[in-house]
Amino acid sequence: MLSDYIQRIGASPTLRINAKVRQMKREGINIIDLSLGEPDFPTPSNVKEAAHRAIDNECTKYTSNVGILELRQAIVDKYRRECGADYNPGNVIVSTGAKQALFNACHAMLNEGDEVIIPAPYWVSYPQMVALARGTPVIVHTKEESGFRLTSDELGRAITARTKAIILNNPSNPTGSGYSPEDLLKVIDVCMDEGLIIISDEIYEKLTYGDYIFKSVAAFGEKVQENSLVISGFSKAYAMTGWRIGYTVGPAVIIQGMEKIQSHSTSNANSIAQWAGVEALNGSQTEIKNMCRKFEERRNAALELIKDIPHCSCYEPEGAFYLFPNLSWYYDKQYEDMPIRNSAGLTYYLLKHAEVALIPGEAFGADNFVRLSYSASTDVVKEGVRRIKTALARLKPALKSIRIPLRNTHTRVREYTTIELKSASECADLISEAESVMPYDNFHEWNVVIGGVILRLVTNSPHLIDFWMNNFFPAAMNSDQVPNGIIYAVMDAPKRKPSTFYCTENHTGVIFNSAFYPQLRSLAFGMVDDITTSTLDTFQIAGSCVAIEDKGLCLIGPPASGVTTHLAGLLNRPEVKLNSINGFMVSQSNGSLVAESLEMKFLIRTNIVKGMPELAGLFDRSKLENVIVDKRNCPTENCISRNDCLIDQGKLGCYIASRYSFGLLDPLWIGGREKHRKRSVISKMIIFLRDVSAPKVTRLSPDDALRRLEDGAHYSDRGGLLSKPFFNFHRLVNDPVHVKHLVSQWETLLSSVSTYLINTDRLSKTEAQVAIWEIAEEH
Ligand code: PMP
Repeated sequence: MLSDYIQRIGASPTLRINAKVRQMKREGINIIDLSLGEPDFPTPSNVKEAAHRAIDNECTKYTSNVGILELRQAIVDKYRRECGADYNPGNVIVSTGAKQALFNACHAMLNEGDEVIIPAPYWVSYPQMVALARGTPVIVHTKEESGFRLTSDELGRAITARTKAIILNNPSNPTGSGYSPEDLLKVIDVCMDEGLIIISDEIYEKLTYGDYIFKSVAAFGEKVQENSLVISGFSKAYAMTGWRIGYTVGPAVIIQGMEKIQSHSTSNANSIAQWAGVEALNGSQTEIKNMCRKFEERRNAALELIKDIPHCSCYEPEGAFYLFPNLSWYYDKQYEDMPIRNSAGLTYYLLKHAEVALIPGEAFGADNFVRLSYSASTDVVKEGVRRIKTALARLKPALKSIRIPLRNTHTRVREYTTIELKSASECADLISEAESVMPYDNFHEWNVVIGGVILRLVTNSPHLIDFWMNNFFPAAMNSDQVPNGIIYAVMDAPKRKPSTFYCTENHTGVIFNSAFYPQLRSLAFGMVDDITTSTLDTFQIAGSCVAIEDKGLCLIGPPASGVTTHLAGLLNRPEVKLNSINGFMVSQSNGSLVAESLEMKFLIRTNIVKGMPELAGLFDRSKLENVIVDKRNCPTENCISRNDCLIDQGKLGCYIASRYSFGLLDPLWIGGREKHRKRSVISKMIIFLRDVSAPKVTRLSPDDALRRLEDGAHYSDRGGLLSKPFFNFHRLVNDPVHVKHLVSQWETLLSSVSTYLINTDRLSKTEAQVAIWEIAEEH
């Protein structure tokens, strides 16, 4: 439903934490909230009065897109007064917060692929804003020892021919670090020499402490002014976050570009806030001084207590209202059975067990740290730090301190594409296209045997060949070994959307630009099904099979029919052994029909752990695809505000968040060798369906069962009614020859087994489980 583009953008992690904190507060928990990004002071009264006057004077209409002249003039005056800069109102645009100013600046300046240097720790939105403008964020990590200030060497090393701009944040959110005029000049010099535009976010310029002297980029002379955008606003200095007003000062051409974007999005900033802004800049500045004094007192109080926390270092900030302590010593420690591995895990622990809300440093590109905002009274801040100290003291060395990363591969494409059937001549063209993309020294090939059929994969995807070799039984790779079918899986094919083709005449499949392994596996099963129709007396069932006292029980059902949940339920019983998951072959053996698993490993949706939580430990050791390991990519938004985010709890990844995450599980790991049967004689079959008109549980006659299977009518997991004969989503060819072969195979099977229908529409999960077990035990 969403564009590719938006799927690449993460939601703001600070907003997610706010949601969690709000929920805990609603539950009556006494949280000390040190996660806030806004001053806890009221807006100065002279500013509020100016807003009242603006309303009374009917200043309530659209203004010019760039903002009222009075405010732009006040901004020009500010920079003349404070920096000796010679701007005019044409150099100024007023926006809905500094956030919109930054957003517009990125869109006005960046072309696709333009690189923008962002020193880390960075404010959370910079990389996302650059990415939203289709630029490329280039993160440069600064050092705690250098006060988190970018050095000219670090900057020089990051510049390439594509570097267009740098985003500086002075003083910084999250570190509070401020550049001295000398250090800033060194960075500015490199930028000017290399022709970079400086986007200088100076939103915290007025909140500075001790003898630190803030100097704006605008104060470094005309050449710097001509190549810089200075962004600031009212949110922090005047405690006006909710008024949504900020501004940019810079070269008129860029300002005009930003105006174009703003004119088609929000038009102008709020008119009343603009008049309030005039008063903020021109009126008394006493409130800022009061606020700074209080912030400084809190900063000092908090720093003193933090210094007492063992194994913690904390930079003494020059500005803003944040502390950024390094608590990485506490990673790989644990509390009860909760291991802490990173800043997200630590902040989660502190939220739960110290009832203090902080922001994990990971959100700012610096995982060794957490951000503590001292935008709360001195007593509250002190109590917060004390709670943190006590909670940290409770952490013990983790029992298992070696961190094994998940063997997880992310694929760009995560859904099946429809497989198009092609004629032999069309297929020849596809093969030559595939071969032209894969030069002779850049592909892999491997033969496997699936249900007696030899298939060869030829691919330039290391991920696909890896899963393929691990998933299926190997077949000989001699030059005289002619496979029964070939699959070309080609990545980086120019001008090709993700697509899959199959030609039944020469048993060849072609996949372009999708390394989504389930797609390849499905094509392989479809091909085996097609090939066996004409050559072997076997057939495939897209279902699962278990053995109870050596009798095979097959479970068949479309997605969303509950079949996987009930398979998990059955496997939890000690007497149930596993034969196959999601695909097996039926063949005749000594007059019996035998189910045989087709794979060495099982490809299972990792969300099966909802029914079988013990599989999570096995997935940790398996090859995985598309498991969510970074909360920023989590599609299950609700999860984040609940208290059960597995990643926060120190888990390496979350197996339930995504429908498209799979694990290639070694079957023997599920309960060991004894829990398995490679072959089982089929004696019973359960068809799972959601059908309002059918009884809850019914025994089906062979004819009835065949009719239901042939029809394949079912509700999709998105609601619509679909029809997929025999529920086999891998079947490629449905011509009369194939259908006749399949029907006769099924007739033979159905006449020798007892078949039941479980209607999951009318049975609760528990009722269904009871019914299944009654069927299984019936003799
Ligand atoms: N830049 C930085 C560094 C910030 O911390 C913030 C607010 N958290 C902003 C910009 C956005 O400010 P505004 O409220 O003016 O949009």
